[in-house]
Amino acid sequence: MSVALASNIDINSIRKDFPILDQKVNGKPLIYFDNAATTQKPKSVIEALSEYYSSYNANIHRGLHTLAEKATTAFEDTRKVFQKFINANEVEEVIFTKGTTDSINLVANAYGRKFLEKGDEIVITAMEHHSNIVPWQMIAEEKGAVLKIIPVNKKGEISLDDVKATVNKNTKIVSVVYASNSLGTVNPVKEIAKIAHDHDAVMLVDGAQASSHCIVDVQDLDCDFYATSGHKMYGPTGCGILYGKRAILEEMNPYQGGGEMINNVSFEKTTYNDIPYKFEAGTPNIADVVALKKAAEYINNIGKDNIMAHEKALTAHAHERLSEIPGINFYGTADDKVSVVSFTIDNVHPYDAGLMLDAKGIAVRTGHHCTQPLMEHFGIDGTIRASFSVYNTIDEIDFFVDSLKDIVAKFS
Ligand code: PLP
Repeated sequence: MSVALASNIDINSIRKDFPILDQKVNGKPLIYFDNAATTQKPKSVIEALSEYYSSYNANIHRGLHTLAEKATTAFEDTRKVFQKFINANEVEEVIFTKGTTDSINLVANAYGRKFLEKGDEIVITAMEHHSNIVPWQMIAEEKGAVLKIIPVNKKGEISLDDVKATVNKNTKIVSVVYASNSLGTVNPVKEIAKIAHDHDAVMLVDGAQASSHCIVDVQDLDCDFYATSGHKMYGPTGCGILYGKRAILEEMNPYQGGGEMINNVSFEKTTYNDIPYKFEAGTPNIADVVALKKAAEYINNIGKDNIMAHEKALTAHAHERLSEIPGINFYGTADDKVSVVSFTIDNVHPYDAGLMLDAKGIAVRTGHHCTQPLMEHFGIDGTIRASFSVYNTIDEIDFFVDSLKDIVAKFS
């Protein structure tokens, strides 16, 4: 069968932007389907990194010399691009972090430690990544707060009725993944934010997977915090952002102490810098933040809508072709989902399938995908996960499915 792809995507030229794709792995052309773990980087991102280190590496904000000025401007330019990318009201609401994990830990520590009290409740869902579970468990234990879980149904969705039944007057924080890395499910985070606000709780959206696959408009979602990682949206590893509403960020204490986050230091009393710098202690990951701008621009240039249409077609095709495999069980069949296809095959261990696919040059992820409670809910140890990006093709999916059929035949 043939599936129409978004006509606005010039797949051949896009693939040329990603030098890593042009190689053989185990003697076979690389097929990279591990995009939910991390995406590959376009030349513009790689070149921005190299250019920074080759021509204007300097520490930012405090230096008066030309290189320091240039590095500071480039660093702050990324903040401006991200303000637009997520539609934040103000540029100061964009804080640079190491990524989603770091962003959530920042909120758990800086917001949770100040505002949580014994008996307060933190609400998450059963499909959260460990990054959106463990920081809350840690702060809940410290403060005597309680973690409440919104359940997931067979299709891998949550229901707003369950959200309403879980969020109550004791809820102080609601933290939900926008797009699940294990199932692909896109959650109704805007509606959940409304329910959280009706109970005077704050809402954090884990946008690790969403930033390159979903429209992100933090004002429209009306979330209080939005956390995301650069490396999952064609940017470098080790950098990401935390968006927070100004009024809330200003109320929070700093997360870490050190240089940059201060206004004035004395042994008697230290005063803190304004946002966003109050939350950016120490020399940041300048090079990667500078290059992150190119990743956001790359997405903008192709157009989120075009990327989403292309990935939707790939995902539909993958589901349809994979259904031909006897004994396949899909996890995550929500109506609204991103380009993640997660499944098991009867009598085939995911690790065996992963290794045998690798021998054919195909990179997928196998295991629990840092969502152990979700796997437990489904009664499995893990899945085989294929996750697609803008540079993937229908032909790659066909080769993947045909290879899987060969593998399954060896086990039957
Ligand atoms: N949340 C989700 C949904 C993820 O998929 C991931 C990474 O896989 C994270 C959080 C953590 O992201 P990072 O490791 O970049 O901090």
